[in-house]
Amino acid sequence: MLHRLKTTKREGWRRFGINHGESIADHMYRMSILTMLAPKSLSSRLDVPHCTRMALIHDMAELLVGDITPVDGVVKSEKSRRESETMDFLCRDLLGGVDGGDAGVEMKKMWQEYEDSQTLESKFVHDVDKMELILQMVEYERQHEGRLNLEEFTRVAGRIVLPEVQEWCNEVLGEREAFWTSLGKQTSTTMTEEEMQQHMEYYGNGVENVASLKA
Ligand code: ZN
Repeated sequence: MLHRLKTTKREGWRRFGINHGESIADHMYRMSILTMLAPKSLSSRLDVPHCTRMALIHDMAELLVGDITPVDGVVKSEKSRRESETMDFLCRDLLGGVDGGDAGVEMKKMWQEYEDSQTLESKFVHDVDKMELILQMVEYERQHEGRLNLEEFTRVAGRIVLPEVQEWCNEVLGEREAFWTSLGKQTSTTMTEEEMQQHMEYYGNGVENVASLKA
């Protein structure tokens, strides 16, 4: 069952013609490593192994649900419901018989913590989720030597909550600017209000946060 995470592609890139891009497992693997690289000022306040495990689990439901992106027209609450059901199937039905079911219960709990995004650890992993996306975006742009502009993904940087991760991300975005400047090109985006909202709901930490941001 888990092999599906290795074969299911992250959908966001397909719209830009990247058909052989990263899988969900690829994304979660690098996120897991990134959690271990948190700056000291942050890691001293975090349960890092807990974050690493959360990163390894956070998109697990996508092995059955698929990677639903903002353009798919599925609202966040529905996406969340489908994923929660899938996690129950994996953690309770499939893992229920393993070692008294404790591991499954623990995994569902961790997934729920990520989904609720209330603890510092879950906020950090949400930020790392965005950070990983930005890193991948920059890598694809470099690979295409300036023929592909993935600027719209830089918007997720604005949704990073923790200042330490924001700073980390700004460094990467600074390198991106330098890359485009070195090619003598300007980066620009033409995202509509509606696309922006979809984007925020999906890559943000939840609909409530988008609403409070607007208020
Ligand atoms: Zn993710």
